[in-house]
Amino acid sequence: MFGSNSKVWVVGLFVALGLSSWALFRNFEAPWIDGVGIDFNGACWSQSAHNTMRAGLLATRGVPSAFYFGPLPIPPSGYYTHHPPLLSLMLAGMFAVLGEKEWVARLLPITFSLVGVVLLWAIIKDCAGSRAATFGALLFAVMPMELVYGRMVNFEPVNLVWMLGGLFCLRRWEQTGGRGWRNWMLAAFVLSLWTAWLGYMFVLILSVHFFTTRHKRDPRLALLLLGLCVASIVLFMLQIHWVQPNAWQDCVAAVRRWISRKGWHGSNVTWNDWGWWISRTLVIRIHPMAWALAVIGGVWLLRYQRKDEPLRWLGWVALCFVVLSAFYVVVFRRASYVHPYAQFYFIVPVAIAGGIAVEALARWCESQSSCARAAGFVAIVGVYAWLVFSGERQGLVLYRHFRILDPNKPEPASLILELSRVINERFPEDTTVICNFFVDYQPQLEYYAQRTILSSKSPAEWTDATSEAELFSKLRWRKLHRRRNLKADERTNVTEGAKNTQVGGVIWLGEPGAKKILAALPAGLREQINVQGIPFCFWTPVVSPKLVALTFDDGPYGEATNQILDILKEERVHATFFLLGINVEKYPAVTKRIVNEGHVIGNHSYAHSHLLGYMPTADFQADVRHAENSIVSATGLHPRYYRPPWGWHTPSMDEQLKDMGYVVILWDLGAKDYDQGTSPETIVEEVINNTLSGKKREQVILLHDGRDVQIAYPRQNVIQALPRIIDQLKARGYEFVTVEQITHQSPYR
Ligand SMILES: [Zn+2]
Repeated sequence: MFGSNSKVWVVGLFVALGLSSWALFRNFEAPWIDGVGIDFNGACWSQSAHNTMRAGLLATRGVPSAFYFGPLPIPPSGYYTHHPPLLSLMLAGMFAVLGEKEWVARLLPITFSLVGVVLLWAIIKDCAGSRAATFGALLFAVMPMELVYGRMVNFEPVNLVWMLGGLFCLRRWEQTGGRGWRNWMLAAFVLSLWTAWLGYMFVLILSVHFFTTRHKRDPRLALLLLGLCVASIVLFMLQIHWVQPNAWQDCVAAVRRWISRKGWHGSNVTWNDWGWWISRTLVIRIHPMAWALAVIGGVWLLRYQRKDEPLRWLGWVALCFVVLSAFYVVVFRRASYVHPYAQFYFIVPVAIAGGIAVEALARWCESQSSCARAAGFVAIVGVYAWLVFSGERQGLVLYRHFRILDPNKPEPASLILELSRVINERFPEDTTVICNFFVDYQPQLEYYAQRTILSSKSPAEWTDATSEAELFSKLRWRKLHRRRNLKADERTNVTEGAKNTQVGGVIWLGEPGAKKILAALPAGLREQINVQGIPFCFWTPVVSPKLVALTFDDGPYGEATNQILDILKEERVHATFFLLGINVEKYPAVTKRIVNEGHVIGNHSYAHSHLLGYMPTADFQADVRHAENSIVSATGLHPRYYRPPWGWHTPSMDEQLKDMGYVVILWDLGAKDYDQGTSPETIVEEVINNTLSGKKREQVILLHDGRDVQIAYPRQNVIQALPRIIDQLKARGYEFVTVEQITHQSPYR
């Protein structure tokens, strides 16, 4: 009844799934405030999916942006181009369907972990029977590594499923010869390539195998696999280059760093320290008993593989994972030293070999007397009970409440959430918040606050902490530097970007150096707020507001102008319209509406002639008057602002305009919005980027509600772009004004 192929053992699979679920679903809905590396990944991949959803798949090109917490659009430096994008995309898809919640994010790795248990069971069952499969799957499910990192929102559980799934299909294909299995296998491997770098190592190991083995030499398959790797990497490189021009150099720098000997804080790690650390963590996270069983099972597999083809295949699978994990852990020394979950894939060979060892024991018992059989049964149950108990306990030890103030003192569990909420309410979207705690980088607080947060305990650095301070760029650079090796010119870029960003501060008053920081703070609003009973000083420096004036040329333009006026009304923004006399005559009612709704108007010539600069004085003045008269008869207002068509103006024109009481108004930036072929996205992007990179605090933006004297020229691209331009600039703290507030001269005479 309990034979190695008995159907009874299917129950074992469900027991393994039950044990897994029990541990993996623990704290299923909890916020990201737990764990050393566990919730770190949960928060940053959730942020990546959050960014993909709010910026759109098209704008992000699907590239992750796991460490960007600022306003849209995401700047090139906000993209995280060091990892394949599939995990972030799957998470974004789940958020889109189920909503952005912690449990939704956790559901992804947990589902994959459970599927992983099923696949491992199926693979072992095919080769060594369902009893061995149950022993292996149970061992897999109770290892601390799986209990903890099987629920971490990261690549490991997902990639493991693609790998095991691919191997399962490979086995079926070898047995049945069905093309379907072969295609499913290739699909699984491609998914693995797009999930994590380890997928590449895995596929490379397989192709080397197919090139070299005597029994199953298949150079065509090997070449196909290599081709898939090359194609994927080329596509990936193109994808990241799309959003970040220096992405390639950045990736190379990242690889160099990960294979280097640097520890987390920059100190060198010796082979000795490294080896000690790796072996210690491997024992803790995989369980000494499981290792012992794996060694016995490994010997067994080696001994019997000659006679037993399925067993040989199973041994080969285990060997693949040993080679894969060892290669990764040794070559990417820094990765394996910093991230304990780099050793994750060792659990597969341990589970397979350990399961085989227990199966061997069970077979030996079967041939013995009933008394010995009972003893064997008790021994096996005892071993598993011990594994469940200690695995569970060890798993719990690996969790740790992430403390932001002092890692050694307890703090309220909801402090991160509450403090984030206050930070989010207090500071506008583009504020970079500096604080005097939270020194080791963790994204949890930033995720909930949705603000970039930097940390400094040095009072000297706070002294300069106004919006355009050197300090700010220093801190920001330091933070970015932790993740990417910035070169000198990239550092300049980061500094430049900082100029348009506001700064705020949160000072934890319980920190020993808080008084010195308070003394060093530049002028600004200070407010003490107690969060969960802990006192913080919230500080906003005094900064004059950044002003932008929207100007619309070549109108009024009938319906297009009306639609623009509707948008401006809805957004409560006032703009300046430079009108053509000829169009004012066509649309007197629209002209009146512009003025009635509080916007400012100016003169933009009568008919947008390109001859104005060449005209005799009298003719030029006549054109200006002609336009002026149309405006006066429609509105009763004598405009003071004059904007020359195309911005072409000669000293003589300037002279005459001055004599006529006009002020020449040009612009600081624009997009090719007058061209029908410019998409709304491009207009938004150009206007935002040009505004952000502008050096002035007051800027005039040029847009067009008309197109010189043409009639019914489509203006839909501007109309679609306008609300987004307004929203994005508002989010960055810009204030919308008319030209009057920038020139400080009344618009009418
Ligand atoms: Zn014009």
